Amino acid sequence: MENFKPREPRPYKIKKPKLEFFCPLCKTKRGLAYRPKLTLKNYIQITVVTLLFYPFFGFKVFIIFLTMAAIFEFFLRSLSKNEIPCPYCGFDASWYKRDTKIAKKKVQEFLGKKENFEQRAP
Ligand SMILES: [Zn+2]
Repeated sequence: MENFKPREPRPYKIKKPKLEFFCPLCKTKRGLAYRPKLTLKNYIQITVVTLLFYPFFGFKVFIIFLTMAAIFEFFLRSLSKNEIPCPYCGFDASWYKRDTKIAKKKVQEFLGKKENFEQRAP
């Protein structure tokens, strides 16, 4: 534990994180606020909204339910995907899984920008 020196000793804390982990590159503690999958609560919300349409559409509301679930999941996925890159070192686990060279380039770009910014600031 002596060698454990995260890049950011006091990272931004997320309320009720869905997943907590340490960044594999800079060792900063991270938390994700969104999961890419729909939870039981989300399904209940969609069902309640769908039931509001039942008097107008009858059993065709099933189509509305599926459409809303798809839209919901699309937004959850995009929100959780935006969270993956580390805000302190720029490490993106999803890019690392697809192509390590691009992931390395992104980290170098991120750190380059950050150092330029720190040099300019007094
Ligand atoms: Zn990091």
